[in-house]
Amino acid sequence: MPPANRHEPRRAKSSTSDYSVTEFLAEFPDDAACLEHLWRTRYSPDGEHAHCPRCDSRQVFKRYATKQQRQSWTCTACGLHVHPTAGTIFHRSSTSLRLWFHAMYLMTSTRCGISAKQLERELGVHYKTAWRMFNKIRNELMAEDKAREQPLSGEVEVDETSWGGKPRRKLKGMKEVAQFRESKTTVLGMVERGGRVRLRVIASRRGEPLSGAVRANVNPQAILFTDDWMAYKPLSREFAGHQVINHSAGVYVEGTVHTNTVEGFFGNLKTGMRGAYKQVSNKWLQSYLDEYAWRYNERFRGERSMFHSLLDTAARR
Ligand SMILES: [Zn+2]
Repeated sequence: MPPANRHEPRRAKSSTSDYSVTEFLAEFPDDAACLEHLWRTRYSPDGEHAHCPRCDSRQVFKRYATKQQRQSWTCTACGLHVHPTAGTIFHRSSTSLRLWFHAMYLMTSTRCGISAKQLERELGVHYKTAWRMFNKIRNELMAEDKAREQPLSGEVEVDETSWGGKPRRKLKGMKEVAQFRESKTTVLGMVERGGRVRLRVIASRRGEPLSGAVRANVNPQAILFTDDWMAYKPLSREFAGHQVINHSAGVYVEGTVHTNTVEGFFGNLKTGMRGAYKQVSNKWLQSYLDEYAWRYNERFRGERSMFHSLLDTAARR
């Protein structure tokens, strides 16, 4: 057996990782590589020619060396500067592109998210900077693009859960349980079996706030699976099917009638969020939910492609 090359570590065949930090750093070793990537994906696939809006034609662009290396390419015909970061979350940021890319890499390569505190340590930036970067990535790159996303379809499980801690003492009776739930933030989860998830912070687990959120996110041709909570009842008329599992009678699975997918998702979500973020204020809860949903929805791609998908979104804006 030839000796292993220690400059090229190999993965176990069973490894699910397909984009190690070494590979990431080899692809984006410095700011120039990151900028070049944006230039090519946004304007110039061959790195040399691009459409010049002022000449209104295809021109040769050059990156002139100046004392203060410009973050732009220049049209050789008319002198127009094109900034590859214009209109993206990176534009005019005092944080380097390499650090932005690295933060995005970390967010796509962890299963349960990563705290700003951890990013602060890994990148050697201020905590505030780390927090701001994550917040931007969540809000602008991981939030659903409403115009592009189709409503959920097929078999869709829907369930709601209380957010923000367990009761301090054992609650007595249905009334206390109900009061406790009402006092908490409610998260509605909608999951296509074998597909995508949507999560929404809703104002109440009753009436319109709940049914409106289902209506806004699920195709009427879908079959809904819910428990027997009364707020789901009126939806029966509006969807192609509605299968109800009688949780209040202690029944959890009846053939294909169950909400195990969405409940399992909630379980992982809560464990993961507690581990990575400790406490999340209501103001930002939706954006953390979007981050989890994004990762779940991209889970089949593999890490390399997840990272590039996030990068594509950044380049599109
Ligand atoms: Zn020009």
